[in-house]
Amino acid sequence: MNIILIGPQGSGKGTQAENIAEHYGNKHFSTGDAFRHMARSGTELGKKLANIMEKGELVPDEMVDEVVAHYVQEHKHEGLIFDGFPRTVKQAQYLDSITHIEAVVDINISDEEAVRRIAKRFSCPKCGESYNTKSNPPKETGICDNDGEQLTQRKDDNEEAVRKRLKAYHEKTEPLIQHYKEKGTPVHVIDGEQPIDNVFIDVQKALGEKKVA
Ligand code: AMP
Repeated sequence: MNIILIGPQGSGKGTQAENIAEHYGNKHFSTGDAFRHMARSGTELGKKLANIMEKGELVPDEMVDEVVAHYVQEHKHEGLIFDGFPRTVKQAQYLDSITHIEAVVDINISDEEAVRRIAKRFSCPKCGESYNTKSNPPKETGICDNDGEQLTQRKDDNEEAVRKRLKAYHEKTEPLIQHYKEKGTPVHVIDGEQPIDNVFIDVQKALGEKKVA
């Protein structure tokens, strides 16, 4: 079963995607993580991607579609959770042409809460684990629980880039809800301002208890 997670920056999508992957056995696919990995490669393409992401802009569709097509083909026998893709109706139409989506989970938070949370978001440059200094702090301040690395803030997690990403989210990504409703795909709206565990309880209520992968 393929699931799409929709929500603004800071809504906890990545954390919930990990929870779903662990509980239901789906494979977590984050386009943001894929692009950050490519950006670190130091190639010309990587530098171009890093520049786009630092400004909070969207990566061009052709590049996104190619990465997604490759991943979907590689994991065609597994249930996938798409995190950060699709971000536009055009991307959703492309995804519809290569695979079937059974459910959409929409995690809602206000813009002000998103800005507040992102200012407190730190991640591990080595393993990618994400922390929030208030709601999900590491055991030792500034240090990754998994590997002891010094935590850093993402370059695109500054207020200007966050506001730009939120604007793009409202204009380009929110219309996806209507797109999937029109197709008859179940869309589950979850209150993302609750504590992380409660958000996952609501996700489970929405998706059901059975294994979906
Ligand atoms: P995220 O980790 O989902 O916040 O993504 C980080 C950055 O990667 C975004 O700000 C975009 O620059 C890029 N990106 C990730 N997914 C997409 C997508 N589906 N379409 C275009 N750009 C994307």
